[in-house]
Amino acid sequence: QPVVAVVGRPNVGKSTLVNRIIGRRQAVVEDVPGVTRDRVPYDAQWNGRAFTVVDTGGWEPDAKDRAAAIAAQAEIAVVTADVVLFVVDAMVGSTDVDEAAVKMLRRSAKPVILVANKADNTSIEMEATSLWSLGLGEPFPVSALHGRGSGDLLDAILAALPEAPAIVENRPRGPRRVALVGRPNVGKSSLLNRFSGEDRAVVDSVAGTTVDPVDSLVEIGGQTWQLVDTAGLRKRVGKASGTEYYASLRTAGAIDAAEVAVVLLDASEPISEQDQRILSMVTEAGRALVIAFNKWDLVDADRRYYLDKEIDRELRRIPWAIRLNLSAMTGRAVDKLAPALNKALASWETRVPTAHLNQWLTALVQATPHPVRGGRAPRILFATQAGVAPPRFVLFTTGPLDAGYQRFVERKLREEFGYEGSPIEISVRPRK
Ligand code: GDP
Repeated sequence: QPVVAVVGRPNVGKSTLVNRIIGRRQAVVEDVPGVTRDRVPYDAQWNGRAFTVVDTGGWEPDAKDRAAAIAAQAEIAVVTADVVLFVVDAMVGSTDVDEAAVKMLRRSAKPVILVANKADNTSIEMEATSLWSLGLGEPFPVSALHGRGSGDLLDAILAALPEAPAIVENRPRGPRRVALVGRPNVGKSSLLNRFSGEDRAVVDSVAGTTVDPVDSLVEIGGQTWQLVDTAGLRKRVGKASGTEYYASLRTAGAIDAAEVAVVLLDASEPISEQDQRILSMVTEAGRALVIAFNKWDLVDADRRYYLDKEIDRELRRIPWAIRLNLSAMTGRAVDKLAPALNKALASWETRVPTAHLNQWLTALVQATPHPVRGGRAPRILFATQAGVAPPRFVLFTTGPLDAGYQRFVERKLREEFGYEGSPIEISVRPRK
């Protein structure tokens, strides 16, 4: 999600402008002279386009090193933002402090939009044209308080944002797509047979959906699911056709086409390298994951003991995967599959509001700061969730993070927000 940073002297109306942009009242603390607000990100939307607005706060007007404070604020804005809103007070005009800030901003290649705030009437609006002299191009006269001019400003912000990704949300949703994968003989066909009696009935009941002929529509737990590329499984008479290479391509294709994968393992046998490869395919593709230990009817106390050890050892990297112990033969725990799939998909599509994410993050880094290396420790400035399916996060930092600390953040993120059954991705954008 693109970031818009709001920069300007204290009392030019940054908070009011942020409130206007996010379309909410008293969300943002007012400028209080002598009080420096922290950088606070908020979610905003205009014409179907979502972005994050960061209020970069103010600086102490008569702090000893005011120039340094301005520089720091501008720098943070420039580092983290895709677009900078530079706010001046149209009733006051540009001041030497504004000019100092502009100098900082112009060193970056980031688009800067000049906002002439407090343009409550036409005559102030006319005055605002003099702000061309700042060298930031056309000033946008706005009254953040009354809303005057804010539509034009939002249009300008959208125009300056990086290219929008294709809109995929809100499209009517057919059945959820599931890949049923696992090495030969783990029981995929047997499990599929438990779900699919007569398929035609299900196909006809989902009006208007086009389903690939190699897929099956089946009912699991009262819900229709699209099991991708299961044609091979159902038609199979006797032996599986094709080489292992072909089978693995097919598995990769099914995982790719699916939203969630059920990886079937044979609980009566050790977890093999081939099992591991299939699990890696799922995590690398960023799909939600349910691991089903099939043939549980064959597991006795002895096997159970060894299996627990294998799980600790072999599935260490994916403790978040949802695990089920079932039997395609006896039907044991087969009814747990649909709830597990739904849970994994819900995690996969979770979106955390930016403000909530950053509240949590601020507390986390305060309690456990990044370890100091060579006298310095990188700081995390703030985070945004860049996307869902799977959840992807971007951490804006003052420098690269230690791998260990990044893992710590991921673990804590999972503790806080769940994500059971879904991989999550965290990328770090250090200041250059
Ligand atoms: P696929 O190659 O993954 O499709 O595996 P199949 O469904 O063809 O099953 C392989 C073998 O395992 C068959 O002989 C099945 O009868 C047997 N099998 C499948 N599920 C179970 C189970 O839950 N318990 C037991 N004991 N055997 C099973």
